[in-house]
Formats: sequence, C-alpha cells, structure tokens
Amino acid sequence: MNDLENLPLPHDGAQSFEVARGAVAWRAGATFLPGRGFVEGVTVLVVDGIITAVTDGPEPTGAAAARPRPGTTLVPGLIDSHVHLTFSGGSAVIDDVVATSDVTLGMVALYHAQLALCRGVTTLADCGARGEVALGARDAVASGRTVGPRILASGAPITTTGGHCAILGGCADSLEDVIRVARRQVAAGADFLKLMLTGGNLTPGSNPGMLQYPAEVVAALAAEARRLSRPLVVHAHSAEAVALAGSLGASVVAHGTCATSEGIVLSPATIAALRAGGTAIDATITVGMPDDGDDGQVMSERAQVRKEMLPVFGALHDAGVPLLAGTDAGVTNVRHGATARAVLALESDVGLQREEALLAGTAHAARALGLGGLTGAIAPGLAADLLLLDGDLRHDPTAILRPAEVWVQGALVARHGYLALDANRRKD
Ligand SMILES: [Zn+2]
Repeated sequence: MNDLENLPLPHDGAQSFEVARGAVAWRAGATFLPGRGFVEGVTVLVVDGIITAVTDGPEPTGAAAARPRPGTTLVPGLIDSHVHLTFSGGSAVIDDVVATSDVTLGMVALYHAQLALCRGVTTLADCGARGEVALGARDAVASGRTVGPRILASGAPITTTGGHCAILGGCADSLEDVIRVARRQVAAGADFLKLMLTGGNLTPGSNPGMLQYPAEVVAALAAEARRLSRPLVVHAHSAEAVALAGSLGASVVAHGTCATSEGIVLSPATIAALRAGGTAIDATITVGMPDDGDDGQVMSERAQVRKEMLPVFGALHDAGVPLLAGTDAGVTNVRHGATARAVLALESDVGLQREEALLAGTAHAARALGLGGLTGAIAPGLAADLLLLDGDLRHDPTAILRPAEVWVQGALVARHGYLALDANRRKD
C-alpha cells in the first residue's frame, strides 16, 4: 500500500524544463498537495494520463505551457468510498431495484456514475449492487466504451438469507457459505468484499442493532479477504460490530454507528480495535442530512442518529481513526453525486479542518481501498485524476461544490457540471 509520506514533494524548481507535445500543465491559484496543504504557484504536469511533475518553480515551456487559472483551486479528484450505483436514491429504493431488469440497471448505474463524475468524483466504490451489474458498469468505463469515474465494485454484498440487502443475491449463512460466496465474488471480478455485519434500515425485518454473523465467521472472511488481496468493507450499525470489524483488520467500517442497548456509546475498546486494525470509518455523513427531504418517521430517525454520531465521528478522528467521505448514495433520499457535500459536512458538522476533510474524500479513501499507489493525491507517478474548482477553497469552503473541470487519467471528462462527451472514446 502506498505511503503518502514517502511520495516525492515538489522540488524547488531551480531549473525550468521543456516538455513534449501531448503533455498538459495546470497552474491553479492554489493546489492541494500531500503533506503541504494548499500551495500557490504550483505547476502540475501530466503526460499520458500520469502526473509526471509537480513543481513550484518556473513554468514548463514548450507544448505544455501552463494556463494560469487565478481564482481556482486544483485538488485531487474526489473518491466516494460508498455508493450504490443501482439504487435510485428515492423513497422506494428496494422496490425500484426489484422492478428493474439487469440491462436497465446497468444503464442506470452508468448514469449515476456520470452524475457523480460531473460533481468531481473521479473514483467511486460500489458497495453493493444486484449480481454483477456494477462489475459490468465498471468494465464499460474501464474499457473506454463510455465516460465515467473509475469504479470499484464489490458485487452483491455478503449477507444472510433474508438479511440486509438479501435481494441483491449475495446470501450466505454458514462459514462455508460465506467463504464460497466471497470466492465467487472475487472470481467474478470483485475489487473488494462487502459484508453486511448487522442489519440495515433499508431492509425491513433485518436488525441493525445485532450481528448477522458470529465472530468466527467474520474472522474467517477477514482471513480470506487477506488471502485474496481484497479490501474488506464492513457495514456496521452496532458498537459490537464496529469493534469486531476493527479487531479483524477490516479496511473500512461503513456507517460506524456505535449503537448499544444504552444508546450510542463510543468506548475506548472500540477506538483501540479500530486503531489496531488500521480501519477507516466511512461516516456516510450524507445519510439523514436535515435538508435531504424529511418525509416521515424513517428520515427523522436517521437524522437523529446522524446528530448523535457527529461528536462520535469527531472523537474517532481525534483518536487517529481515519474518516472517509463516502455518501451511501442511492439509499433512501441520498442522491448520487453528493460526495462534495460529504466533504463539506465533515468540516461544518463534524469539525474537521478543511484539509483533513478533503483528505477524507481523496487520499484516505484511496489508501483504505488499496488505491494509494494509483490515485488520491497530486503527486508524481499517480494518475492525473484532478478536480479544478471554481473558487479559492482556502477562503470559501463551498468552492468544493463548484467543479469547473474534472479530469480522469488526464482526460477532460466534465466541465462546469456537464459531461464532456468528446471524451467518449475507446482506448482500443
Ligand atoms: Zn450502503
């Protein structure tokens, strides 16, 4: 796994340099760099989709003469560590899925991925779709047959018969079943494994407050994920589940709701388990937001849980547990493309510093998903997944909501919130 601290930082650029035709250079008003935060006067050079130089010295000359962009901020493309591309984000998510064919769901998935792309998301992780639909959407983008963000997909999440999101098809009850389904997902091309360790609010009859599996089954799955070199993302709404996932070294705990019989309680033992596991908490902070359309009792409960979790997320962050800016986009009343809002909310509602909130939606997410050596930061050797914001993010936090340009692997794919369809070209 990549270590951001070891990436080369910009040199002082004593020498100017000439670059070849085909290179592209950015010179935004401010550029967000690993380990340095927002820096002025930085030139970012890209050749063949890869960042080849980051310098605060003289601009490159030749074909790649940088266009100065005063009043803008260049940040890494956002990474949404938790979406459901095949979910509608409406009020009847499960019914919408059940009523839709795989072919149509695949098209819907791409549409949702493109919505996110237009809002600055260059990588997203689909944490559960029916069958292999999200894997197909991933492949359509990866092969250049359509425009989209880089997609990671888990396939159908592993869950119990009748358990949380069982309709997606990843049911497994015994230890042997769980291992078999995990192997099947990876054989089908899953980029990571998703386990529903507790029930969820989306699934009537499942119990969000209790484990769906005993600890030995989860331990066996965690070991299998390691053997298969796949990150394990664990859905957890109880303190017991959060601590168990951390103690077994899960890459990410989604939601991280620390529910106990005495209400929401973050114990020192839970913190210790997460730290020992190197586990990130995906706060899915966009679930239950006050302005997401409160349409009754369900939303009110979610909003209440969110409110109670805000100080818990702050405490986790203070204790050194990385927070991620996943959205859970697609679940009830959570629209696709809300990742920038999640970053903003981690600052405004949880209290993270702006730089830290941005890391939650970029480098920390890349690292947790095993992509740290590929994307998530503006540094030489990484993919040119870049987001140019219309505004100075140092002084205006809402600039994150104004994507002027979005670039994936060096290709301009969206401009001012609209897809750049001229990027729709096959690579073969
Ligand atoms: Zn989810």
